[in-house]
Amino acid sequence: MKIVRIDVNSNKIDYEEITSDSKYLLLGGRGLTSQIVYDEVPPNCDPLGPENKLILANGTLTGSPFPNSARTSAGSKSPLTNGIKEANVGGRGAMMLARHGIRALVLQNNSPELKIILIPDDGIKLLPGNEYKGLGNYELHRKLREKFGENIGIYSIGPAGEFMMKAATIAANDLEGYPSRHAARGGLGSVMGSKGIKAIVIKPTKESKVKIHDLKKFRETSTPFAKILAKTKEVFSTFGTSLMMRAMSEYQGIPTKNFRMGSFDKIANISGEKLHELVIARGGKNRLACSPTCVIKCSNLIVDEDGNHLTSSLEYETMALNGSNLMIEDLDSLAKIDHLCDDNGIDTIEFGGTVGVAMDCRKIEWGNSQKVFEILDKEIRNNTEIGKLYGNGVKIIGVKLNAKRVPQVKGQGLSAYDPRVFKGMGVTFATSPQGADHTSGAAIAGRVPRQNKDYGELTKNEGKFDLSYELQLYTTVMDSMGCCYFIGPSYENMELIAHAINAMYDLNITRDDVIDIGKNIIKIEIEFNEKAGITQSSNDVPRFFREEPSEPTDLKYTFNKEDLKSFWDKLRE
Ligand code: SF4
Repeated sequence: MKIVRIDVNSNKIDYEEITSDSKYLLLGGRGLTSQIVYDEVPPNCDPLGPENKLILANGTLTGSPFPNSARTSAGSKSPLTNGIKEANVGGRGAMMLARHGIRALVLQNNSPELKIILIPDDGIKLLPGNEYKGLGNYELHRKLREKFGENIGIYSIGPAGEFMMKAATIAANDLEGYPSRHAARGGLGSVMGSKGIKAIVIKPTKESKVKIHDLKKFRETSTPFAKILAKTKEVFSTFGTSLMMRAMSEYQGIPTKNFRMGSFDKIANISGEKLHELVIARGGKNRLACSPTCVIKCSNLIVDEDGNHLTSSLEYETMALNGSNLMIEDLDSLAKIDHLCDDNGIDTIEFGGTVGVAMDCRKIEWGNSQKVFEILDKEIRNNTEIGKLYGNGVKIIGVKLNAKRVPQVKGQGLSAYDPRVFKGMGVTFATSPQGADHTSGAAIAGRVPRQNKDYGELTKNEGKFDLSYELQLYTTVMDSMGCCYFIGPSYENMELIAHAINAMYDLNITRDDVIDIGKNIIKIEIEFNEKAGITQSSNDVPRFFREEPSEPTDLKYTFNKEDLKSFWDKLRE
């Protein structure tokens, strides 16, 4: 496997082989993106300037048959948080990069001209990209397929990335060919836009360069694990993440009316069960895998009454932040918002949070979905002043509107969990070096990192520091292996990962070694952030969560600020 460094301005390309004694051997995904950012990006640089780098890195296990392991991490200094950032994504590209023998692409410098990067069998090339300027991801992917073939893998940006909006995403094409998967959080699409790269196109390779030292031994771990996952995640496969809509509302912790309330009286209209009925009735699809090796298959494809494609894939975070949070109560509107976000290349979480602040400030009526479509389809797509207001995230709109209730941490909008109710998630939001990001350590109902350990009741503070700490460590490992965190960031699974690594790389590491990988990554992320001016004092949620009780639970956020500040101290001991 190699790391490919591409100077996007001069078109110079360097290849670095990852040898068995390389410090990068066991670093993949988030581990590799964060290590390269830490080693090579000046912490105080302009995130959109030429000193920043954008890294796309496959996981350490990507390319292997380990279940759900075909994910790519995008990493950089984030224009949204100003700190280190990683966002990972499924889709076709990861497995294709692995087959080409590529662990990571490092995009360096900025190009004033729009380009595309083509990865065929006979050497990587940079090609002029002006013909694709301004295209949404859907049209762009159609044209790229027309030119380079149906079976390509694509990472791309939409108009929001080209305009360097801070909520811009990097899109990846899914197994049906739609640009529905996104490295969404942290505005990394705007970094790709600043580099002048509209798309990275990977052509299928004839011969795979993935090497597994002992495939038989590898399968002794991966095959039974895949069978267990397929069986135990059956309900999740049928309904996808949308199943959480009703549950989160029943827990009274779903963001509703810009986090004023935790339950939505119209939840039945936008529940996972309702979505499932609609998918079946209209002939859409469920149980779709977003990437090769996935055995859980939580994705879906939504069509209209005439069977025309509306969007892929409609998921919990999008539905909650653009549904209950904005008081929008019909699934077709949510599907349209999701499609427009995917097409423009905008993070649905950041966007829903941003519009929530605007509605709270009475700039738009609650529930006005037509206005939301207009913002996406006219304003953001054309980079108008209004588009800039809504395309740059929750924090910026909060400042511009002088809003009092701005749900963000370290510059990144909260995902769809009220931190006053879901206390463990509240700790993750406050302490993650990645900003408010549920995927950093998703401490929701029922998820425990260690069997037989008591982490206390969901809505009580007791046990939640341990819960969040352990989940954040194990999730960091998952992110570095290229594994979807739905397979479970647990202590038990760290053992399986050690076995898989040993079989793949002919090593003899232990579960503790694997956990140490996670610890080291978080350590360097914190250090980078501190050099960039984001200290541990910023480990907190916005004041309104401490002062204003969530309805109807009457719960407030009550973790001690000093305790949050010293949350990571044990990592440094
Ligand atoms: S479980 Fe869902 S998100 Fe994870 S890899 Fe499978 S389809 Fe993608």
